[in-house]
Amino acid sequence: MKAFIFDRDGTLIENRHYLSTPMGIKFNPCAFDLLRTIRHCGYHIFVLTNQSGVRRGYYSRERIEEIHREMLLRLTQEKIRIEKIFYCEHHPNERCNCRKPGDHFLKILRRRYDMEPESSYFVGDRAEDMLLGKKCGMKTVLLRSNSQKDQTPSADYVFDSLCAILNLLK
Ligand SMILES: [Mg+2]
Ligand SMILES: [Zn+2]
Repeated sequence: MKAFIFDRDGTLIENRHYLSTPMGIKFNPCAFDLLRTIRHCGYHIFVLTNQSGVRRGYYSRERIEEIHREMLLRLTQEKIRIEKIFYCEHHPNERCNCRKPGDHFLKILRRRYDMEPESSYFVGDRAEDMLLGKKCGMKTVLLRSNSQKDQTPSADYVFDSLCAILNLLK
């Protein structure tokens, strides 16, 4: 199957410093339209996020899962289906292979969901997102934020707004 894999913070939802409550979830204004169109075009949607705040002690794993349940609930209310939200809870020092740009979860996507990298996209706002997508042979889409305009990581496509990603689907 073909897929769109999204980073969470700064991509689908507003970037908050270690978001720790469902009340703080704020979807990008373009997210619902974009996700609906992507589904309509026959892609499956996944989210892949680094959440080292768990191991840093800023919030619990239960809290992360509560936040993700709330995200999925709001998407369901918008009639959007997301297959799964994968998260890495490890501290960078633990050197796990699920923290982006580690490819543990993408291997699962290939094995368990039969994801075809060459017809799939990785969308994110950071270098680690682009590195991971590239490493796995996917098309990479960078959502460029104001803060990093001078040092843009390399990507197949670069957009300044999530809405503009719709152009890829036309
Ligand atoms: Mg991000
Ligand atoms: Zn990890």
